[in-house]
Amino acid sequence: MLRLIPDHLWTDAGHGLQWVFFHNEVDSPAGIVERHNCPALSAEEAVRGGMVLFDTPYARGHYQQSTLWEVLSVEPLSINESIMCLGCGLHGFITNNMWEPIE
Ligand SMILES: [Zn+2]
Repeated sequence: MLRLIPDHLWTDAGHGLQWVFFHNEVDSPAGIVERHNCPALSAEEAVRGGMVLFDTPYARGHYQQSTLWEVLSVEPLSINESIMCLGCGLHGFITNNMWEPIE
């Protein structure tokens, strides 16, 4: 389903990474989906991207097994902690909409 998000809705964060907000019935936004050209994933998996859930009361009640990210700012987007791809090891922060890699 996520692959149906049109390209123009994704924010280009630089360094080959893009993200887009997603919403649920309570939180708007509820998190982001990020995608990057991941050598560890098939093309279809990479297009689908990875979910980053924001730390909200709803998320704490419904996604207790998941990591939740603190939202420092929605517009522009800044979140804490860092994001790491378990496939290829890509690691960094999203700050002011942009990807800041951790070397
Ligand atoms: Zn990756």
